Amino acid sequence: MDEPDASRQQQQRNGPAADARMHGVFTDADTGRLTYALSLSDSCLTVQRINSPSSPPASSEHLDLRDCLGSRAHRGELEDQGAYLCAYFYPYRRRWMASGPARQRDERRFRLELNRDDDNNDEEEDANLREAERWARAIRNNTARRPGNTHGVLFSEVRRPCGLMVLVNPQSGRGQAMALYNGHVQRMLTEADIPHTLVITERPNHARDLVRNADLTQWDAFVILSGDGLLFEVVNGLMDRQDWEKAIQTPLGILPGGSGNALAASVHHYTRESPVWGEDLLTSCGFLLCKGLISGLDLISIRLSSGARLFSFLSLAWGFVADVDIESEQFRQIGELRFLLGTLVRLASLRIYQGKLAFLPAGDQPETDSSSTADNQLLDHLLVPLDQPVPQDWTVVEEQDFVLVLAMFQSHLNEELMAAPEARTDDGLIHLFYVTAGISRATLLRLFRAMQSGTHLDCGCPHLVYRRARALRLEPLSEAGVMTVDGERVEYGPVQAQVHRGAARIIST
Ligand code: ADP
Ligand code: MG
Repeated sequence: MDEPDASRQQQQRNGPAADARMHGVFTDADTGRLTYALSLSDSCLTVQRINSPSSPPASSEHLDLRDCLGSRAHRGELEDQGAYLCAYFYPYRRRWMASGPARQRDERRFRLELNRDDDNNDEEEDANLREAERWARAIRNNTARRPGNTHGVLFSEVRRPCGLMVLVNPQSGRGQAMALYNGHVQRMLTEADIPHTLVITERPNHARDLVRNADLTQWDAFVILSGDGLLFEVVNGLMDRQDWEKAIQTPLGILPGGSGNALAASVHHYTRESPVWGEDLLTSCGFLLCKGLISGLDLISIRLSSGARLFSFLSLAWGFVADVDIESEQFRQIGELRFLLGTLVRLASLRIYQGKLAFLPAGDQPETDSSSTADNQLLDHLLVPLDQPVPQDWTVVEEQDFVLVLAMFQSHLNEELMAAPEARTDDGLIHLFYVTAGISRATLLRLFRAMQSGTHLDCGCPHLVYRRARALRLEPLSEAGVMTVDGERVEYGPVQAQVHRGAARIIST
């Protein structure tokens, strides 16, 4: 939440009428038997049931407009002269038996008839619709989220009438992404009145090719309904362009539809609400998408030994974590659980990975955007060529026997594992973790279990090291192995990476 709850409580204590701007009498949309007094303030829609003139007023319900996605008015059918007002709320509610609260859809519909008389009068019907539309407009105007302590801008402010491209990978996860689109995403975007175009990817790199050649004046944002792999394609497709500097400013949206939904889980984590999974996570991310606040997203430039360069927003992994990620691909039918199963399998054959690790410590000063460009390229000014020793101000890690090296750029490694709880979308930091050899299987398992709640650093495990960095170099000594960037396997060998603070933009909190 971007504002403390005090304002909400204040609101309820003072009663809704204090700053209410509109008042009206409606009936329930289904039977027309119940009567409600509605009042609308800047922050709240208050619904009070009116029983009869003599009975005491029933308690009223305060619907927080920060939880509202949109509102619409429409005519009644056929003989019905009334007009209807619909508003779509997604408040946090605790579900029966569920562990924590999650956003749940709560649609409110009311019927309005200003003058009830017997003759069927077109003018009156129009007046009813006009009044319902006035309410819908007023509700819509008050649902816009105001940036709190973020430096976000309102998506609705930058939105031109062209809309979103929603990219769906039908093969991601258990192959459920299209069902999630049809069951949730389409409806939320319609409720929020956000025009969009659905694009179903047909093959790997389809999305990358599409955004590489897209006419960017046609799109307000690219939204990915898939795992992190599809966003990785979109980010790198935008960076492939001649006009990358402008292209990478296109806001990106992430909706969890794959088996590795780390960025979606991170974006939800940054709202500071209780953790949610599966369709609850989709609802949370869909809600944030429709509210459309934009913040910077760090990009990490990764240089592989062949000279190839990638842009990452999530993670760089080598050793245990990378092996699990790739080996567990075979279990993708079980969705997110594949990582747990993969972890147990890998634990049974725990091994040591030899290599050299060095990094540039972040220091205390928050780095402002240090990126510079030359030859129409984003310059990695912190890196020197791989065949030269790392600069003086870097830290060279003494140990060379590792169980894992994991560089995190957002909070979550996947939906279940919160590796870097302190990370933020544009903190300009590489959250570097490594586990040195000598750790027991039991302790390693304990660390991963603690990571589910982000408390692994509290375990006091001497083999686990955490450092904040701006750049790193990793040189594996063994000939073959697995390295992953954002969960995707990349060419194995020495790598260097440097963060570019807020180089991209993400629709989040
Ligand atoms: P998951 O989290 O399930 O792995 P991702 O979004 O990461 O989902 O996608 C996995 C891979 O699928 C990515 O490498 C992406 O390039 C690829 N991909 C995208 N569209 C398709 C498609 N239509 N068919 C097959 N693979 C695809
Ligand atoms: Mg993936």
